[in-house]
Amino acid sequence: MSDEQPKFANVAAFVEDYIGNVYQRQVTDLSDTVWCQEWWRHVEAVARLDALWRAWEQLHRDERGGLSHWLLEHADHHMKRLFDPRGPFKYCSVRNGHMDMIGPLPLKSPPGGLFVDEDDERPEGWIYRTVVEFVENYLSMIYQRQVTDLSDTVWCPEWWRHQEAVVRLDALWRAWEYHRQNPSTGLSMWFLKHADPHMAQLFDPKGPFKYCNARGGHQSNLSPLPITLPVQGLFTDPEDPR
Ligand SMILES: [Zn+2]
Ligand SMILES: [Zn+2]
Repeated sequence: MSDEQPKFANVAAFVEDYIGNVYQRQVTDLSDTVWCQEWWRHVEAVARLDALWRAWEQLHRDERGGLSHWLLEHADHHMKRLFDPRGPFKYCSVRNGHMDMIGPLPLKSPPGGLFVDEDDERPEGWIYRTVVEFVENYLSMIYQRQVTDLSDTVWCPEWWRHQEAVVRLDALWRAWEYHRQNPSTGLSMWFLKHADPHMAQLFDPKGPFKYCNARGGHQSNLSPLPITLPVQGLFTDPEDPR
């Protein structure tokens, strides 16, 4: 955050005095827009709203359109996720209140040694040592989704058996360690530019977890894309002097 004093003491004050007034929506009747009065019970809502607050504290000071940038590039995206009936407030409503229906993404830990190299030094200032630590202690808490029943959202507790999931989540972890070091807009950018698009790919029923599910566990029905070797000489080798 900048040297100037923040306008709001904390994220709760920001949500109550600012977000709640700016984003007035019809959320009390059955609707395609959902809201939970006890938003602070949802890890994802806290993370997104806290990121929004930090971004706001910096961007609103920029008189050349900072607030417009904040609204269009940050707030609208996060609020759309939160208001989404398939999002974190899926089972909550203003009428019936908060429902404790969704837990962290189910996980099975990989066999020891798969991701940890004892000689690996954690880069300075990093929070997690491996992608597994990051998924187990952070990501699975943030992206709580209904994945145990037939659903349009799929997840494999043994995500580490999927090459694509390992590549995406490892990249996501590294992006998080980098972005969190920007205390104003960093985390909001991480959510919007990295985490949401990657998680959408992984949660997609047509994606890498197509045959897996939280209840039945991992199913290894996918294999690498089939490739026939190209005819010789089709691609020239730049190292080849001919
Ligand atoms: Zn709730
Ligand atoms: Zn699987």
